[in-house]
Amino acid sequence: MFGLTGPDVVECSRAGCRSEARHNVNWRNPKIHGLERVKVWSACDEHVSFLRDFLEARDFPVVVTEAGVVVESVGTEA
Ligand SMILES: [Zn+2]
Repeated sequence: MFGLTGPDVVECSRAGCRSEARHNVNWRNPKIHGLERVKVWSACDEHVSFLRDFLEARDFPVVVTEAGVVVESVGTEA
């Protein structure tokens, strides 16, 4: 099955947002994730700063990249 948006379009991770994601928000929760773990949210132009601020407010390390960029690790060992 093929969706109307095609296989190359990734939607924003923000709840309720269907915009095309142009950024990756790479993050980690130091309390439960080791340094080798990287969680990735996809974000549109509008929500990339919202998602980054959401994580930074919790003291999680965050690295924002363009969509498709793979990050090996985020932050440093706690
Ligand atoms: Zn969005």
